[in-house]
Amino acid sequence: MNILCNYEYHAPKTKAEVLDLLADIGDKAKILAGGTDLVIMLKEKMIAPEHVINVAEIEELAGINFTADGVEIGAGTKISDIGASKELDKEYHALCYAADQLGSYQVRTMATIGGNIAHSLPAGETHTPLAALHAEVVIESKKGERRVKLEDFILGNRKNVMESDEMITKVFIPKPAPHSRSEYGHIGLRRAMEIDCANMTVNITLEDDKKTIKDVKMVMGSVAPKPLVSEKAPQILIGKALDEELIQKVGEAAQSEAKPISDIRASAEYRRDVIGALARRLTKEAYDLAMEA
Ligand SMILES: Cc1cc2nc3c(=O)[nH]c(=O)nc-3n(C[C@H](O)[C@H](O)[C@H](O)COP(=O)(O)OP(=O)(O)OC[C@H]3O[C@@H](n4cnc5c(N)ncnc54)[C@H](O)[C@@H]3O)c2cc1C
Repeated sequence: MNILCNYEYHAPKTKAEVLDLLADIGDKAKILAGGTDLVIMLKEKMIAPEHVINVAEIEELAGINFTADGVEIGAGTKISDIGASKELDKEYHALCYAADQLGSYQVRTMATIGGNIAHSLPAGETHTPLAALHAEVVIESKKGERRVKLEDFILGNRKNVMESDEMITKVFIPKPAPHSRSEYGHIGLRRAMEIDCANMTVNITLEDDKKTIKDVKMVMGSVAPKPLVSEKAPQILIGKALDEELIQKVGEAAQSEAKPISDIRASAEYRRDVIGALARRLTKEAYDLAMEA
């Protein structure tokens, strides 16, 4: 039984070949990486592309490379490799931990970071850590390269800024400042294989006194159509040493900024409740660990 639609299958060997194909047939094609989202959409007949371009075997698209300024993670890098990288975990803890929470082991060994970003679901596991860590998504076409901040890349549920002739080739994350720490947390209905009903990353940098907050980026997931960067958290926290009162205030701020909806996974009310709890817990954890960094 043919459960998928009819499409022409392409298996280019290099990035340049993919970009050639996208320039010619990108408007009728879908890129296939790990297939953990795409194959479901094909089977469910949510999409019916005329062409499928498999990029899974292209080695130059995968890998974690540390540079003087930060780290570059190839779009084709498996989520399991990100979760398992001890070197990455040292400076980009929230991303590694989030990667380790995505789906099951089997899913993580198929799924790629490029696919997670390009699929652009509001609950996407890697989105809030990437945004909180100031990541840029590197997009390429035959016309050249452009870099877009993660929070600007995703426009809404399954919507992003990519044109039909473009693909994600890598993600760049700048080197974190001294005395900083990022912490990720998520809430789901059950511990295995759930898509989060809310998630968050808090990235805190301290001054050299290791007490005063120099910078903070708090990003909420699944409480708005796209990753939501808190405007209030920096106003509340920067220039101060964390205490109980500030922790309460930052929780209330996150609740006031969240714009959750009710759906199959959770009510809007529940999401607003847990986003406050995540904000309080992760702010305290990130602050305490930044003091030791
Ligand atoms: C059982 C199960 C559990 C899951 N649990 C989670 C979870 O807990 N959290 C979570 O976030 N996700 C979860 N997912 C979703 C999925 O595994 C991730 O989104 C995954 O990272 C997608 O990557 P992929 O390589 O499989 O993408 P694919 O399925 O190959 O592609 C997904 C989309 O991205 C596009 N795409 C892929 N690569 C590129 C590229 N380089 N440039 C441009 N476009 C590209 C494709 O065309 C497609 O539109 C789950 C999936 C399953 C099946």
